Amino acid sequence: MLAQAQRGGYAVPAFNIHNLETIQVVMETAAEMSSPVILAGTPSTFSYAGSDYLIAICQQAAERYKVPVALHLDHHEDIPDIFQKVSAGVRSAMIDASHFPFEENIQIVKQVVNYCHQWDCTVEAELGRLGGQEDDLVVDAADALFTDPDSAVTFIQQTRIDSLAVAIGTAHGMYKNEPRLDFDRLHKIRQKTEIPLVLHGASGIPDADVLRCIDLGICKVNVATELKIAFSDAIKHYFLENPEATDPRHYLVPGKAAMKAVVMDKIRVCKSAGKL
Ligand code: 13P
Repeated sequence: MLAQAQRGGYAVPAFNIHNLETIQVVMETAAEMSSPVILAGTPSTFSYAGSDYLIAICQQAAERYKVPVALHLDHHEDIPDIFQKVSAGVRSAMIDASHFPFEENIQIVKQVVNYCHQWDCTVEAELGRLGGQEDDLVVDAADALFTDPDSAVTFIQQTRIDSLAVAIGTAHGMYKNEPRLDFDRLHKIRQKTEIPLVLHGASGIPDADVLRCIDLGICKVNVATELKIAFSDAIKHYFLENPEATDPRHYLVPGKAAMKAVVMDKIRVCKSAGKL
């Protein structure tokens, strides 16, 4: 999916999902817009929903809708946990060892690549460090580190990863100050490398900046926080207007509709509509 996006000059949106409803929203919208899509789950999403439930729901969704789809392990760190999920059917994994020193990051990623490639599972890894909060992990902006283009070359050669998450100034969660992305750095990384590049922390990034990143070689765009905000705000609003409501089949509907609007918008920004 990412290689095709790279050739086609668009990005595959990766939406963080948590349960049946969020998977329904992403898949319905992707099908309506004929967009390939990635369903991303962090470790705590898998433990919240149950890996077996989550995998089964995604498999069912893949059968129901004829769009290219992958269930992806987002920001996974525990090697045995990754192996277990891959052997249970997952075919796209991110091993995030970006908080370790360079050499250690390489050694950890290599182990995951060796295992995953035997299962035809692709591997994403991160070099550099994003600020903000992802899952239960909080990284202070001061500890964020941008990806060095030359190190990226060594990293890719030594690990044989399939895609690289770059740190170019985005952060997980919403931004307190206007994000300033290092487009020159992205351009240099693209010039020196060949594999698909991944943009994390796309919530709150202006459309024009995401589009510029795609033009500079990003072919997977990760979105989580904006979806959660839309979903939960709409449900809060519903309860304010309907304080007596108890039925999830009613109060979840506005949450899904609000999330859908964000998914549509991100698919449009990724230029992935109609790219089956
Ligand atoms: P946001 O929550 O900032 O959209 O980041 C999502 C992400 O990068 C998931 O890996």
